[in-house]
Amino acid sequence: MSLCLSLALVVSSFVPGLEEATDQPILLRPARLIDGVDSELRTGWVVLVRGAKIEAVGPAHAVVVPENTRTIDLPDTTLLPGLIDAHTHVLLHPYNETLWDDQVLKEPLALRVSRANNHLRAILDSGFTTIRDLGTEGAGYADVGLKQAVEQKIIPGPRMIVTTRAIVATGSYAPRGFAPELKIPQGAEEADGVDLPRVVRDQIGRGADWVKIYADQWDPVTGGKATFSIAELRTVVETATALGCPVVAHAMTREGMRRAAEAGVRTIEHGDQGDAEIFALMKQKDVALCPTLAAAEAMELYKGYKIGQTPEPAGLTLKRKSFKAAMDAGVRIVNGSDMGVFAHGTGARELELMVEYGMPAAKALQAATSEAAKALGLETRTGSIRPGLQADLIAVEGDPVQQISAIRKIRLVLKQGQLVLDRGASHKKSE
Ligand SMILES: [Zn+2]
Repeated sequence: MSLCLSLALVVSSFVPGLEEATDQPILLRPARLIDGVDSELRTGWVVLVRGAKIEAVGPAHAVVVPENTRTIDLPDTTLLPGLIDAHTHVLLHPYNETLWDDQVLKEPLALRVSRANNHLRAILDSGFTTIRDLGTEGAGYADVGLKQAVEQKIIPGPRMIVTTRAIVATGSYAPRGFAPELKIPQGAEEADGVDLPRVVRDQIGRGADWVKIYADQWDPVTGGKATFSIAELRTVVETATALGCPVVAHAMTREGMRRAAEAGVRTIEHGDQGDAEIFALMKQKDVALCPTLAAAEAMELYKGYKIGQTPEPAGLTLKRKSFKAAMDAGVRIVNGSDMGVFAHGTGARELELMVEYGMPAAKALQAATSEAAKALGLETRTGSIRPGLQADLIAVEGDPVQQISAIRKIRLVLKQGQLVLDRGASHKKSE
């Protein structure tokens, strides 16, 4: 027993990302810095990290560097807050590898969790230090355990907000198309009417940080039909918020979006059929949008779409249009990609598409940092480079404001002051 324990300790000390943050202060010296809040690109600035937190940020001459500080020079890089993806599924993997139905019905839970371990590492290494994982899709409450494994430093991964099983109206979700007399396990928990408070409380009791509800029937092609009544959605919001948990709604249709916004959800996911009127309502109610552009593109790629070679599919033209309408209405747009539909570790695609669809790169970076933190209620912990916040920081090669795809070129990742990825940064101790 004691031998196993000591071996485990030896092994874990060799897994990057699992070391304890040391008390030795770290000084980061990038070429440029973007603080996540405004659009200014600062040169000659440094960040001092002590323990898990940012202690100071400013022009190099203005930051007092303690003795015994470890300096990390990051020439040619831009330092940013750790990125946030507000819509992931770590228990899914791309549907062109295995169809969603088969993942839900045929993959053992242990297989799914094993994959998820790798997904979390890939997400962290790609610069995302926080995720909100929006449903295990048939894997029960496995997200709660994965979150604990990350927090206990058993596996490396981003900070996680979890939702467990998510809630769907009876008969509205999937897998479907089986003989009607068969009872097929579903990718989320069915509940309706008077049963909703019990299910909300049950999911929260089992570890959900947020409650996710599907305001539409699941249909990736048509968007489906609105399911729950406003009264039902209000019941969910009231029950969850009384327990300190905000509510997130999947909604692709206008009516689903309208009911969810009226009922008081905090974010709406997808929003494909949103228009000026719906987005004005969201703006008025301060409901944020996670557009999930990258997942929509991935679904079309799986069906044969070839970027730049075949005509843009109607679904993506609609995405482009609704994204622009949301921007025009001033809705808070948050980086949420639906990663899992496509490969974990490639979440940068969502930012590239936001820019391609008309958002300035500096705004897209804010959507993945300070704006996402605000929408998730994490702004006092992460999402910007400010003294007192957690030291979630990434350095990327080049300048992502000039070329957004620079965020794919990760040089360094710091999560809560802990160096979890270091690709060739040069180190030296200060005098
Ligand atoms: Zn999703």
